Amino acid sequence: MRLHTGNMYWPSTFAGSIHYPPLLSKKKTRVAIVGGGMSGVLCGYLFAKSGIPAILIEQKTIASGSTSANTGFIQYSNDTLLSELTDSIGEQDAVSFYRSSNQAAQHLYTLIAGMRRKVHFKRRSSLYYASKAEDVPSMRKEYELLNKHGFGVFWWEEAQIAECFPFRRAAAIVTPGDAEINPYLFVQALAEDAQVYGLEVFENTAMQAVEPTSEGYRVITSQGEIEAEQIVYAVGYIPEHAGGQWVRPTFSRSYAIVTDPISSLSDWHSRFMIWESARPYLYMRTTFDNRIIIGGLDENIRMPVRKDQELRKHSNELLSALKSLFPNLSPQIRYELCATFAGSEDGLPWIGEDPQRPGQHYCLGYGGNGIIYSMLGAEIIRDHLLGIYNPIAAIVRPDRLVVTK
Ligand SMILES: Cc1cc2nc3c(=O)[nH]c(=O)nc-3n(C[C@H](O)[C@H](O)[C@H](O)COP(=O)(O)OP(=O)(O)OC[C@H]3O[C@@H](n4cnc5c(N)ncnc54)[C@H](O)[C@@H]3O)c2cc1C
Repeated sequence: MRLHTGNMYWPSTFAGSIHYPPLLSKKKTRVAIVGGGMSGVLCGYLFAKSGIPAILIEQKTIASGSTSANTGFIQYSNDTLLSELTDSIGEQDAVSFYRSSNQAAQHLYTLIAGMRRKVHFKRRSSLYYASKAEDVPSMRKEYELLNKHGFGVFWWEEAQIAECFPFRRAAAIVTPGDAEINPYLFVQALAEDAQVYGLEVFENTAMQAVEPTSEGYRVITSQGEIEAEQIVYAVGYIPEHAGGQWVRPTFSRSYAIVTDPISSLSDWHSRFMIWESARPYLYMRTTFDNRIIIGGLDENIRMPVRKDQELRKHSNELLSALKSLFPNLSPQIRYELCATFAGSEDGLPWIGEDPQRPGQHYCLGYGGNGIIYSMLGAEIIRDHLLGIYNPIAAIVRPDRLVVTK
């Protein structure tokens, strides 16, 4: 299944050439991880570091799925605001979930600091601006709720926004301590590090079927098989491959462009990561090589566009939006893409063991902050395998009652 079309910035500018062999034999391990994107590789890394024997298989190549379309924002604030999550699952669980997302981000930062390669990671503040003046009261409610629970965000009025940026908006929430990353480079480098800790990785190896055995499962692949006690489905936006009856994503497709390097970004205050209160929202950031990434224009269609003209029409729309916010810049489109995106009705990912299929786990971090959800998923499943209680597991469990917004 095609997950994206267009020309991709991260893979095109990736200087490494890391390849893994296909699985051509029978193997035995404790955990088989299906999928070599952000979620699967984070699981593999955390398992290997905890001494849990695991084998990861990827049907194509590492990070070639939606991870290569990921625009690299690491933000605990979510498409589903804390105030909205409070309305659907209650304040206590909503705050616990936001706190655990923030903690997962901090754990990720520590992990990145210990990696052997640099992955274009940088701490940044985020600016969440009011797209329309009518959005200000609900944003104020969000700001107050976040601060009531100690998240330490700031409220900016119109004058302060205008002092720092060439555009005016009625208000904004500023979140310090978020981060940007090159997700493709990160996942490639993490797979390499995980191998050093003992993870076995196979590319061009598709899971074709799963059979029960006396000790767990047999994962039948294109040219081999794995006997494992447990399976983790980190299959990204192809939930059909995870089986089971619990996962019911909402699908859309999203667009993004990456510009040529810009000679001066002095108009862009502290290179904040920017997004807005409109739904669907526009989001934008800068890159380590002085480009701008802007994305959005989501449509409720699962398959990415196929025609170049259709892609270019959306790319031009993103470019116009960028120019109207930053009129002194002369950005040129260098990379453009359309990609499938999966979310959930309640804004939460599907993570954990399938109650009807013991030993089979979902690690499906659907939602705009899939990086943090992938980390959260890897931690929850690792804790389960180690017999450690994780309080967030109940909130994101696959058989939870999904509350519609
Ligand atoms: C345009 C766009 C922008 C985004 N921006 C951000 C962002 O800024 N920040 C953020 O946090 N999140 C973002 N996301 C979300 C993020 O991309 C995803 O949540 C994350 O990359 C998902 O990683 P994953 O490992 O779950 O999925 P994937 O990267 O898709 O990996 C799943 C892998 O499983 C493999 N697979 C599937 N079936 C099988 C099988 N049967 N056998 C073997 N392998 C199989 C696939 O080939 C694939 O490589 C964005 C998403 C999109 C589309």
